[in-house]
Amino acid sequence: MYDIIIIGAGPAGMTAAIYGQRAGKSTLMIDKAGYGGNIITTPSVENYPGLKNVSGAEFAQLLFDQAESFGAEYKSAEVTGITDAAGVKTVHTDGGDYDCKAVIIAAGATNRKLGLDREEQLVGSGVSFCATCDGMFFRGRDVAVIGGGNTALEDAEYLAGVANKVYLVHRRDRFRGEQKTADRLARLENVEFVLNSTPVRFLGDGPVTGLVVKNNETGEERELKVQGVFEAVGQVPQNANFKNVAELDEAGYVKAAENCETGHPGIFVAGDCRTKKVRQLDTAAADGTVAALAASDYINSME
Ligand code: NAP
Repeated sequence: MYDIIIIGAGPAGMTAAIYGQRAGKSTLMIDKAGYGGNIITTPSVENYPGLKNVSGAEFAQLLFDQAESFGAEYKSAEVTGITDAAGVKTVHTDGGDYDCKAVIIAAGATNRKLGLDREEQLVGSGVSFCATCDGMFFRGRDVAVIGGGNTALEDAEYLAGVANKVYLVHRRDRFRGEQKTADRLARLENVEFVLNSTPVRFLGDGPVTGLVVKNNETGEERELKVQGVFEAVGQVPQNANFKNVAELDEAGYVKAAENCETGHPGIFVAGDCRTKKVRQLDTAAADGTVAALAASDYINSME
């Protein structure tokens, strides 16, 4: 019996493990995709307070090592559900069931798809969701990055250092991501902004040979001769397996306020998978802290 089981080992989950252990609770992190979360694909993190510049992968490794050093455990498995019988929570996974006193759902979110024909089939043949993982395959070639958030801007900046030319395709004329990064991109000679434009189809019978985008104002279509398309159009939560113990909003996020309480005794939520306005690395970490301390208080009140 663990004190706290944390579903997800991204920045929120790993921070929860640190604070849970430091509060004297045994903690187990379970993640199906390895530890680190989405941040491992971010080339450089330069907005985490106290760290001037660190790669996402390095950041995740430091956090994991820190959690382990306090005694947190980690298992790689897919969580299929949570049940609660007389206060004992059981976390069901494809690798067995684990009992605990409190659960923190920190399951993050997965990459949103554009919904274009052959999109799934072209993953690995020109379509990618990770610039740092796949960027080197496009050394000296032309690529498109889709999206206007921080991920798209950072991916475009990283790829500009690798690829011959980067088209940054965004559906509006203003970026959602940080102005500072957008300004740096605007100064790069091999980056072209393709604004007010939405991708409509991939070109090529085999691997990607181009992308057709449509101007949302004029309706005009334009062919971008690219060999790589990096999609960075946000994330969607995957909380369906937890809806028996945590209420979800229409978009599938776990409903909770800043106190990270779900309303179900002993079930807490942290990070990008919960309803919130700001989804940043430091707000994920802050959630991990709040959820772990709330879970510890809950366990203490039961004993
Ligand atoms: P995001 O902020 O949600 O941005 C998604 C972008 O994709 C938006 O610009 C959106 O356009 C566009 N989009 C959504 N659906 C689309 C569609 N079907 N077709 C075309 N475009 C579409 O996602 P994100 O960039 O992955 O970032 C997620 C969170 O992580 C954000 O809070 C971000 O700040 C944070 N983040 C932080 C760091 C860092 O701290 N270093 C790095 C990466 C991400 P609209 O703008 O028109 O909605």
